[in-house]
Amino acid sequence: MLEIHQFPCLSDNYGFLLHDPDSAETAAIDTPDGDEYLKQAKAKGWRITQIWNTHWHPDHAGGNEAIVEATGAATVAPREVEKIAAIDRVVGNGDSVSLGAHEARVIDVSGHTNGHIAYHLPDDGIAFVGDSVFALGCGRMFEGEPRQFWNSLERIRSLPGDTTLYCAHEYTQANAKFALHADPDNVELQHYASEVEAKRAEGRPTVPTQLSRELQTNPFLRADDAALRDRWGGVGPAETFAALRAAKDNF
Ligand SMILES: [Zn+2]
Repeated sequence: MLEIHQFPCLSDNYGFLLHDPDSAETAAIDTPDGDEYLKQAKAKGWRITQIWNTHWHPDHAGGNEAIVEATGAATVAPREVEKIAAIDRVVGNGDSVSLGAHEARVIDVSGHTNGHIAYHLPDDGIAFVGDSVFALGCGRMFEGEPRQFWNSLERIRSLPGDTTLYCAHEYTQANAKFALHADPDNVELQHYASEVEAKRAEGRPTVPTQLSRELQTNPFLRADDAALRDRWGGVGPAETFAALRAAKDNF
C-alpha cells in the first residue's frame, strides 16, 4: 500500500511525497521547494529516489536540482522541464513509470503548458494532476489552446470516477466563487462550496478531491453540460470551455 504525504509549500502549493514501503522507493511529485521536500522526507525517514514532474513551471520543477544533489534521485519529466533542469527520463502520453511494483500511467493534460502531464496510478486509484485540473477549477491557459485543453480534460474525465485527484494548489475557495457564478443552479456545487468554506475557515486542505464529485460540480469539466453550454457557449464544449476560461481570468 502506497503512503502519500501531503504538505503545504511556498505560498499556496502542495508538496507530495509518494512512498512504497515494499521497495523503500519514494517519489517527489513536483518540487516547489527542494529544501522543504528534503526536510519532509527526512522527518518521515524516507529517501527520495525519484522525481516525477508534471510541467516546467519553477513552482513545480524549481527544487529538482537541490533534491538530485542531496539524494541522487532520478528525474522523470516531460521534455519541457529541460528549460530549467536536467531530466534522466523524458516521458509522454501512454508511457509507464514505476515506483516499486506500483505503476503510473502518463497522460497528456496539456493546455496550462504545452507539455503538461499527469501521473495516474490505476491500481491505487490516484492521480497527480499538477496544474491541469484543480478542485472546482483548472489551470490558466498559459501556452495551450481551448480545444487542446478540453481534450486534456476529457482524458481526465475518462478516468474511473472514484479516482482521487491530487491537485498542486489550494485555490478551491476562489474557484468555488467562480463556479457558483458560472453554474448558479447546481445544487451539488452549492453543497460543495459551503463545505469548502467550512474547511478553509478551520485551515484544513480541500485537496485531494474525488473525480466523481468534480464531474458534478467543476464547470471546466462540465463544458459539455447543456445548462453551461446555453449560458456560456452555445456551440461545442471547446467553445464553452474557452468562454469559461476567459471569464475566470477576469473574474
Ligand atoms: Zn504551473
